[in-house]
Amino acid sequence: MAAPESMNYDVLVIGAGGAGLRAAIEASAEGASVGIVCKSLLGKAHTVMAEGGIAAALANVDDRDNWRVHFADTMRGGQYLNNWRMAELHAKEAPECVRELEAWGALFDRTKDGRIMQRQFGGHKYPRLAHVGDRTGLEMIRTLQDHGVHRGIAVHMECAVTNLLKDGDRVVGAFGYERERGRFVLFAAKAVVLATGGIGRAYSVTSNSWEYTGDGQALAYDAGAELIDMEFVQFHPTGMIWPPSVRGILVTEAVRGEGGVLRNSQGKRFMFDDIPANYKAQTADNPEEGWRYAQGDRNARRPPELLTRDHVARCIMREVREGRGSPHGGVFLDIAWIKEKIPNAPEHIKKKLPSMYHQFKQLADIDITVEPMEVGPTTHYMMGGVRVDGDTQMSTVPGLYAAGEVAAGLHGANRLGGNSLSDLLVFGRRAGRYAARFAKEHGAGKINPADLDAAARTALEPFDRASGENPYQVQNQLQTMMQQLVGIVRRQGEMEQALEELAKLKARAARVGVVGNREYNPGWHTALDLHNLMIVSEAIARSALDRKESRGAHFRDDYPDKEPAAGKVNSVIRRGPGGEMQLRRDPLPDLPAELKQVIEEMK
Ligand SMILES: Cc1cc2nc3c(=O)[nH]c(=O)nc-3n(C[C@H](O)[C@H](O)[C@H](O)COP(=O)(O)OP(=O)(O)OC[C@H]3O[C@@H](n4cnc5c(N)ncnc54)[C@H](O)[C@@H]3O)c2cc1C
Repeated sequence: MAAPESMNYDVLVIGAGGAGLRAAIEASAEGASVGIVCKSLLGKAHTVMAEGGIAAALANVDDRDNWRVHFADTMRGGQYLNNWRMAELHAKEAPECVRELEAWGALFDRTKDGRIMQRQFGGHKYPRLAHVGDRTGLEMIRTLQDHGVHRGIAVHMECAVTNLLKDGDRVVGAFGYERERGRFVLFAAKAVVLATGGIGRAYSVTSNSWEYTGDGQALAYDAGAELIDMEFVQFHPTGMIWPPSVRGILVTEAVRGEGGVLRNSQGKRFMFDDIPANYKAQTADNPEEGWRYAQGDRNARRPPELLTRDHVARCIMREVREGRGSPHGGVFLDIAWIKEKIPNAPEHIKKKLPSMYHQFKQLADIDITVEPMEVGPTTHYMMGGVRVDGDTQMSTVPGLYAAGEVAAGLHGANRLGGNSLSDLLVFGRRAGRYAARFAKEHGAGKINPADLDAAARTALEPFDRASGENPYQVQNQLQTMMQQLVGIVRRQGEMEQALEELAKLKARAARVGVVGNREYNPGWHTALDLHNLMIVSEAIARSALDRKESRGAHFRDDYPDKEPAAGKVNSVIRRGPGGEMQLRRDPLPDLPAELKQVIEEMK
C-alpha cells in the first residue's frame, strides 16, 4: 500500500470546536508544535451553533454569584454523579477564561455600565451566561480561530481521523483520510488531544449536525481508554418539530431565559404542576414571580420553565402522552406573550433572539413575535464520554487527552445550559497545557508500519463490496432504533431488544458496500462512521440497561425513582481482551469536606 502523506507534531488536536481550538492555543503557548484536524471547514464545528451563552460566575448582573454557587448548581444539576474536581476547577476558572476570550477580541453583550452581560438559564441560581444575543458560539469560535491561526497552528480541514496509533501502551499518532481527495494521512504526535464533540447522530431526532457520530469516544475505546456515564444522553426539551425537514433543530433555552413560557394545547402553563422537591425552594410558585425573575428582580425565584433540561423534557413528554400536545406532537413555547408586559416587545425579541426569529420565519413561516412556537425534545448533548483525570484531562491511556463534549465527568447525570462552552474553555486549556508537557517529557514514540497498513485496508474494505448494502440504510435504521428503544423514556425489555438489534446492525455494517472513487464520496464516509456509531450506541444501551434507577437525563419507566446505591457509582465501559464490550461500576471518589459544606450551604 502506498505510504500515506505524513505530518509530525508535538501535539495533535483532533477536532476544531471550542475545546480543540482552546487546547491547540494553549499547547502552542507552551512551546509545542501543534496540528489541528477537523472533519469539515475550520469554523464549522458544533461550537459555532451554540446560542445561549457561556456560564461563568462573573457576578456582573448579580453580585451574589461566585464560584461556590456555580459549583453547587453544577453538582445539583448533575445529581452528584459529577467528577467533583472538574466541577470545582470549572467553577473557579470559567470567569478567567471568559475574560481571556474578551481580551482576545470577543465582543459580548454589555450591561448598562459596560461590563459583560449575563442572562438567566435553567438550573443556574443567578444570571450567569455571558452571551452575544443568541449567537454566542459564533463569537467564541471566531475569536479562538483568529487567535489560534495567528499563533501558527497548522490546520488540516476536511480530514477525518479513523484510528489512533500506539507504541506499547502509549498513543503516538493518528491515521485518517482527506475527505476531498480520499488520500490517507498519518499524523505522528508525541501527545494527542481528542476534542471531537458529541454523538447526536446516533439518534434520529437531534440538534447535532452530520459530524457528530461519536468518533472520539470510539477512537478512545478502540485505543483501550475507558468511557464513563454513557447512559446520560441529554434530550433538550425544545427542538423544532415542524415541518418534518427541520425536526430536531434547537430552540435555545434563552427563549425561556428571556421570559418564554411553555403551554399545552389547553393553553395551560403546565410546568407549575411538577416542581421537584430539591428545586422547590428556588422556583417561583406563580407566573408573576417568574416574570419578575426574567426581568432581573433579585428577590424573585426562577420560573419552572427554567428547571433542568431533563425534567422539562419529561414534563413535555407527559403532556403529549396524556393528549394535551400540540398538533405535531409537541407543546407550545410562547415568547410573543411578553407584549402584555413590555411596550416594544417585537423589537426586544428580535434583538435578544435574532437567530430564533430568523430560524422560525425562514424554516417554519412562524413570526415568533406574534405566534407561539411548536417544540419538543431533541437529542442534544452527551454527558458521558472519555474518562479523564480532572486536573490534566489525560485519559486512562498515556499520551491521550480529551476535552469538551467528548470527555466525561463535569456534568454528571445532566448538564446545565451554558456549562458546555465554559467546559470547552477551562478543560480545553488544561488539556492543551498538559498534552504539551507530556510531549516535552516523553519525546516521540514509534509508529508501526503494520498498523498503518491494517488501518488503510480496513478503511478500503467497503469498496471491495460494491454490491453490499447501502450504508445510509444501516445508519438510518440504527438512528430510528436508538430513538425508539433507548430514548428519553427507557424500559428493560426495550433496551434488551436494542442490544439484539445492535448485534444485527453491526453484522450488516460489516457488509456495507460503496461505489465510485475515493474523492468526496459521502457513502464511503458514512460506511466508516458506522463503526463509531455502533460503539457509542452499544455503550449507551449497556450502561442504561445496567442503571436500574432514574437519575438526571436517564429515565427508566420501570425504575422511576432514584436508587441511593446507584447514586454512588459511575458506569465504566471498556473493550475486553476478546474485543467484547465490558461494563463495570466504579465508586465515586469521596467529596472533600470543604466542598461538601459548599453544597450543604447552597441547598
Ligand atoms: C444548536 C446548539 C446550541 C447550543 N448552545 C449552547 C449554549 O448556548 N451554551 C453551551 O454551553 N452549549 C451549547 N451547546 C452545546 C455546545 O455547543 C457543544 O457541546 C460544544 O460546542 C462542543 O464543543 P467541542 O469543542 O467539544 O466539539 P465541537 O464544537 O462539536 O467540535 C468537534 C470537532 O471535532 C471534529 N471531528 C469530529 N470527529 C472527527 C474525526 N473523526 N476526525 C477529525 N475531526 C473530527 C469536528 O469536525 C469538529 O471540528 C449547543 C449545541 C447545539 C447543537
